[in-house]
Amino acid sequence: MIDKRPAAVVRVSQVADVIACGNFARDNSMDLAVRGGGHSAPGFGTWDGALVIDFANTTGVRVDPAARTARSEAGATWADFNHATHAFGLATPGGIVGSTGIARLTLGGGIGYLSRKYGLSCDNLISADVVTAEGKFLTASECDHEDLFWALRGGGGNFGVVTSLEYRLHPVDVVHAGIIIYQMENAQTVAKFYRDHMASAPEEFGAFLAFALGPPVPFLPEEWHGKSVCVVVGMWTGDPAEGPSR
Ligand SMILES: Cc1cc2nc3c(=O)[nH]c(=O)nc-3n(C[C@H](O)[C@H](O)[C@H](O)COP(=O)(O)OP(=O)(O)OC[C@H]3O[C@@H](n4cnc5c(N)ncnc54)[C@H](O)[C@@H]3O)c2cc1C
Repeated sequence: MIDKRPAAVVRVSQVADVIACGNFARDNSMDLAVRGGGHSAPGFGTWDGALVIDFANTTGVRVDPAARTARSEAGATWADFNHATHAFGLATPGGIVGSTGIARLTLGGGIGYLSRKYGLSCDNLISADVVTAEGKFLTASECDHEDLFWALRGGGGNFGVVTSLEYRLHPVDVVHAGIIIYQMENAQTVAKFYRDHMASAPEEFGAFLAFALGPPVPFLPEEWHGKSVCVVVGMWTGDPAEGPSR
């Protein structure tokens, strides 16, 4: 989707690389772009003539199951993060699509299936490691660099380069989830029901309504493949036996 020609793309592997990139860009008056998961629809993870700091090679996630926390490198996607925490029956609110980057999604707020019960992704951010425009490394949290930490939780990125993020985790293991596809002519009825249902639904139920092209999946009749449809995708994190009735 994005047609940009950066001057160079640096695939960083450690904080020292990020500091070196920032210093190089500043000393040579270059624009700097930061690429986390690369999901920015307007393509803000790259820029014409810029030096791109690309976190694609830094995807490690360290889970502390006793403390129920996880520290993740800035290039991880939600698929990476969920894979790491699910092994311990834990999760935090993240994006609805696995390939979205954790970094900018969290720095911009972050809403997902678990948000009704556990808040936004940024509400679950405990601390963030940051390289500033001056090339300094610091850790922002509720106790240190509080004003920067406030800006990182929803401010949209670019308040420095975040190299890792620490999250609070919650006990989420087996879930009941799925997609329901409706014909477009029923969209108004579906949307009204969705609005009323969600207003009083238990917090263990997360869902979204969207308009999409019918996916080529075996349970959707072929004449609906590629046609406009209304979809509701839901996830229930309460007692699995209750899932089908939700
Ligand atoms: C298919 C799809 C599904 C989505 N689903 C959801 C959803 O369920 N919930 C939701 O809340 N949002 C969702 N989004 C929006 C998503 O949060 C944004 O697109 C977000 O930018 C993705 O993060 P990224 O790391 O992949 O971004 P990138 O494209 O890598 O970066 C975008 C911007 O963030 C800055 N940035 C990136 N990494 C860092 C860093 N480490 N430090 C400082 N700044 C940085 C960059 O400078 C750039 O300006 C979705 C987007 C798409 C395309």
